[in-house]
Amino acid sequence: MDFQAILDEIDDELRPRLDAVEGKVASYIPALARVSPRQFGIALRTCAGETAAAGDAAVPFSIQSMSKVFSLTLAIRALGEAMWDRIGREPSGSPFNSLVQLESERGIPRNPFINAGAIAVADRLVSQGDALAELLALLGRLCGEPIHVDAEVAQSEADTGFRNTALANFMKGFGTLDNDVAEVLDVYFHQCAIAMSCEQVASAAGYLCRDGRHPLAGTPVLSAAQTRRVNALMLTCGTYDAAGEFAFRIGLPCKSGVGGGIMAIVPDRLSLCVWSPALDATGNSWLGRQGLELFVTKTGLSVF
Ligand code: GLU
Repeated sequence: MDFQAILDEIDDELRPRLDAVEGKVASYIPALARVSPRQFGIALRTCAGETAAAGDAAVPFSIQSMSKVFSLTLAIRALGEAMWDRIGREPSGSPFNSLVQLESERGIPRNPFINAGAIAVADRLVSQGDALAELLALLGRLCGEPIHVDAEVAQSEADTGFRNTALANFMKGFGTLDNDVAEVLDVYFHQCAIAMSCEQVASAAGYLCRDGRHPLAGTPVLSAAQTRRVNALMLTCGTYDAAGEFAFRIGLPCKSGVGGGIMAIVPDRLSLCVWSPALDATGNSWLGRQGLELFVTKTGLSVF
């Protein structure tokens, strides 16, 4: 398959839609509100190491909730099954920053991809050592180049992270978090503020598309069974309240973020990342989602 030609076609087809972008960039984090919505990028990396990219694929953006896949990976590596002692694996059916469910489920987050779950994962990582440094080191190894936090976005997250602070305190009250709330949130805010391009995300996600092996070095990042589980969670919980619609229309494990990125996995074939900052009503990238749909239509690649 000529992936470069396919990505070029997708970019050609979608770029005119940037003139009439529907949806809005995330505004509840002021640093994200300043990003121009008129950008679209798409990149992939095959299991064989072939790469293809189009549009704004080399522009770094805030990976936001996509970071939750990589922090979960670190926590599974460190804790194995014990990772799941205080974090569930069911879709939440409520907004990603909802407090309501946490109350009725006694401080146990539904899954590691809603904010409460990712904060609980960050707590596990804080217990293991320097969580942010570990995460950046993992991403750097996976991409083969250094990865950084956008300090302005991290500060903006901290300045406006009232709901996340509430979630963390709430979980601390239930005994879900072991560590100091401020320390855990500092990790969470910084991981969300990591900046990467579509090309870097597509490369970093390479271990998820086969058997958990590092895309460049071939060493294990996760076991094959752990990799399948992360993919299952991405499919069922990775795109906020639109996971059913994503499975229906796209049929790939995906993880999105409010920075407008969506990473997707075609098991045994390739890892893919699309980015366009304007979000639809479900909090997923408006044009990114269309890009993924086009990719699946043009290639016929889907897990179903
Ligand atoms: N930093 C964002 C928040 O905590 C991440 C949300 C997201 O991308 O889903 O609200």
